Amino acid sequence: MRRRRPAFKAETLTNVPIIDAGAEGKAIAKIDGQVLFVPFAAPGDVADIQITAKKKQYLEGRIVKLVEASALRTKPECKHFTLCGGCRWQHLTYEAQLSFKQKQVDDAFARIGKFPYPSLRPIKAAPEIYHYRNKLEFTFSSRRWFTEPPQEGVQEDPRGLGFHLPGMFDRIIDLEECHLQASPSDAIRHFVNQKSKALNLSYYDTKRHEGLLRNLIVRNSTTGGLMVILVSKTEDERLSSELFPALMAVFPKITSLLWVINPKVSEAITGLEIKVIHGESWLTEQMEAAAEGDPPLTFRIAPASFFQTNPRQAAVLYRTAFEMAGLTGDEVVYDLYSGTGTITCYVARHCKKVVGVEYVEEAVADARVNANINGLENIAFVAGDLGKMFDDAFVAQYGQPDVVITDPPRAGMHPKVVDQLLNLAPEKIVYVSCNPATQARDIALLTEKYSVEAVQPVDMFPQTHHVENVALLVRK
Ligand code: SAH
Repeated sequence: MRRRRPAFKAETLTNVPIIDAGAEGKAIAKIDGQVLFVPFAAPGDVADIQITAKKKQYLEGRIVKLVEASALRTKPECKHFTLCGGCRWQHLTYEAQLSFKQKQVDDAFARIGKFPYPSLRPIKAAPEIYHYRNKLEFTFSSRRWFTEPPQEGVQEDPRGLGFHLPGMFDRIIDLEECHLQASPSDAIRHFVNQKSKALNLSYYDTKRHEGLLRNLIVRNSTTGGLMVILVSKTEDERLSSELFPALMAVFPKITSLLWVINPKVSEAITGLEIKVIHGESWLTEQMEAAAEGDPPLTFRIAPASFFQTNPRQAAVLYRTAFEMAGLTGDEVVYDLYSGTGTITCYVARHCKKVVGVEYVEEAVADARVNANINGLENIAFVAGDLGKMFDDAFVAQYGQPDVVITDPPRAGMHPKVVDQLLNLAPEKIVYVSCNPATQARDIALLTEKYSVEAVQPVDMFPQTHHVENVALLVRK
């Protein structure tokens, strides 16, 4: 006999004050000393909250009635707010978002780091709070999410094109709008969606691994580049004879239309053949140089390559790191986790030599092209896993660094990389991070030989809780 699960008694607490912004963009209340996480609440709200989960360390809940709205609230721009996992701070004013990001860095340094550090510099706000992203990846799905129950007798098309629902890998929102990328991103997605339906093309089913259309990636650059990548599971004549020509006819500004056949289970397109349907096989981005008088930098971005997703604010981030490095022109610089070599190129004109290290081979190839395009000859790029090859032989080959700039992924640096930095003891380390918690953890280890001289948060991702942070460490 199947045992019946005890019914979960949905408990609702009334008039709960929301006191803070917390992890993963959820706001915080306190109930008898226990933390209660509430998504889409704003500090300053008073709300009736239904408890949705009781864990050992904390509770989770959702607002059932907003009794008093916080003064930090503003109207979210997007109609998919709360359903889409993307921009979970849209209900907060931009000023409030900035101050919570600042606090997030301060809290991570104080609670996790526990080392002395100077007062944070005020966070650098982004110039655009919507439409700032240069890349969006949409998914075709045979099973879209329906927000309304279907009307009786109406057969709705189950296909959709948009973003995954948070926590549901096989369901997507048939996106009507996304305010993260500038026009014509929405219009291109709508056109491809409608035309594909009209042509009766099948959309991918993740569970069964069948269906033709898989992903639509739209990338743009500040110089007017517009790249559209269509990913399908197999070849299909209707794409080349119907869909692509129709798309080009309506959007002649597309500078690069690419087609990738991905028969694998994984969505990643790295390493797959890329067919050029129209225009170039890359995007061109330009960035103001580090110092006035220097020519701007030009970067070539390959279809599967990473480029900072907020390019205007990336220039602010790089300038911050550059100024902290305080280069005089004589230094040997290491740029660890160098990606496509953007920071490497950015600092190259102001030091003796710079060595970029990155483990994605394609990114290193792009980085070499970027150094060439910009006529920079004092650069070496090394492909390899920093956790494995950043040893004494490496230093013997590339020289003792005076300054190290490091920009690791969210997980932070491998302990071996931290050990090697302590061992090499360059005069300065500039630590660029997209996760202040792991940054604080790594800096705590480095404080054995370093003091933290400056901390500068930078907002790269408005409407989200994500924050970028740059710290300057100087050898004691
Ligand atoms: N500094 C670059 C990229 C930063 S993203 C920019 O501003 O564009 C972090 C990079 O670290 C990614 O390109 C990722 O591929 C690389 N990476 C992650 N783990 C690594 C490792 N163990 N060794 C070398 N590179 C790594």
